[in-house]
Amino acid sequence: MTTKNEQYDIVLTNGRVIDPGTYLDGSYNVGIRGGQIAAAISDQLLEGKEVVDVSGLIVSPGFIDLHTHAQNIPSNRMQAFDGLTTSLELEAGVLPIGEFYDNCAKEGSATA
Ligand SMILES: [Zn+2]
Repeated sequence: MTTKNEQYDIVLTNGRVIDPGTYLDGSYNVGIRGGQIAAAISDQLLEGKEVVDVSGLIVSPGFIDLHTHAQNIPSNRMQAFDGLTTSLELEAGVLPIGEFYDNCAKEGSATA
């Protein structure tokens, strides 16, 4: 946990911050700089150019789904509402894979 007297690009205040990797689970403020969510996690007030009150919401790393058959942009957008940032089909795969990659290149991604 970091406490810094610096200004961040964005500060998320009063969110329930969960990090399964470190077992962190509690109400904290998160400072974001340069697109990096882990610039600061603190129970102290943080200064930000933009401050967003996320009371009642969970702040966590993006979730990874290792078994989803939904491999298209509309599905990826729906999954993003659940916090999913990585969607993988590791059961049977996607065949033919070359055609799948070609279609992905044409469609782009849900984040584009
Ligand atoms: Zn399956």
